[in-house]
Amino acid sequence: VGEQTQAASTRPDATGDGVWLNVHVASMAPGRPAPYGAIQDAGLVVRGGIIEWVGKRAELPSALLDSLPAHSGGGRWCTPGLIDCHTHIVHAGNRSEEFELRLRGASYAEIARRGGGILSTVRATRAASLEQLVACSLPRVQRLMAEGVTTLEIKSGYGLDADTELRMLRAARALGERDGLEVVGTFLGAHALPPEYPARAEEYIDFVCAEVLPAVAAAGLADAVDAFCETIGFTPAQTERVFAAARSLGLPVKLHAEHDHLEYVSQAGVSAMARAGTVAVLLPGAFYFLRETRLPPIGALREAGVPIALATDCNPGSSPAESLLLMLNMGCTLFDMTPEEALAGVTRHAAMALGRDDRLGTIEVGKQADFVLWDIDRPAELAYRIAANPCHLVVKGGAIRPGARP
Ligand SMILES: [Zn+2]
Repeated sequence: VGEQTQAASTRPDATGDGVWLNVHVASMAPGRPAPYGAIQDAGLVVRGGIIEWVGKRAELPSALLDSLPAHSGGGRWCTPGLIDCHTHIVHAGNRSEEFELRLRGASYAEIARRGGGILSTVRATRAASLEQLVACSLPRVQRLMAEGVTTLEIKSGYGLDADTELRMLRAARALGERDGLEVVGTFLGAHALPPEYPARAEEYIDFVCAEVLPAVAAAGLADAVDAFCETIGFTPAQTERVFAAARSLGLPVKLHAEHDHLEYVSQAGVSAMARAGTVAVLLPGAFYFLRETRLPPIGALREAGVPIALATDCNPGSSPAESLLLMLNMGCTLFDMTPEEALAGVTRHAAMALGRDDRLGTIEVGKQADFVLWDIDRPAELAYRIAANPCHLVVKGGAIRPGARP
């Protein structure tokens, strides 16, 4: 199935280079006065997979218009390619049985006794070959791609041993070799305590720093390092040890903290995030699935100027979410974000969260030609609709692939 789908989505002759006309561009570029950085009746010039010109159609230099092939956007809206900047999408098995048990009133202790929880995903993932991991993760990745996702972050963290952590990151790299998708691999060895180290977190962190992290770095399998710092994760001191080891290997770091989705961050924490230039990644799928009630401090983040990103957090335990568009809706309905903030959260701010905003996240001159054409009347419709997929066409690095409705 994977092979067939790949063949169907690969059209090596379909270049997006040229002049795009009959299109409205929601550039999401900062500094443009219109909401969404919008340019109605736009022209968009792509050359060598890079955006060479964008602006009002009426102002398009005729030299460009005359010398390049033309594409019609069919009067559609165009946004930057969507970026899902926080996922655990590579994993084997699922936890629907545990979900059902919980809804039938089973206690956490009972679920744990019956083999549920994160360690059930660790067991399933350890048992899967590289090919099996790719095969079971691919349909989830393809569902994201079909709704305009062009860049995807994938974390390890269900191996918690050297072999499986490396295999998960290899699976992430393999998924990134597909046309029209860029994958950022993140090592999350400090995700949970493996069964081999019961109540021995210090020793497990020693093992991660001394053996797993150097092997990951040597194989070039990670673009960044993450750690789970919480009461049920690792202590700040243990997290700092992992980050120090990562920095010594030249890898950038990020943090799963404050209950993973920032509901518990304080005003002082928000100020510190603003000073450090940190991006707050909000995960409304987990908030919804776990029926959280304490909202993240959107107002404080907004006021402090902390960029807010939105992501699926796609994972089998707390957010089995395979739609980034649904996260736009949830960002608005659950977190009171505006549709424009939600769209920035999966474009410009998500690119910042991945440290790739020099190249991705907005439609601006000099950036990579990653954009999506949508069958919508206005950009807010992307956040407004529930379980719809109006993605018409995707361009990644200048190459065209069909959307949900080619
Ligand atoms: Zn997560």
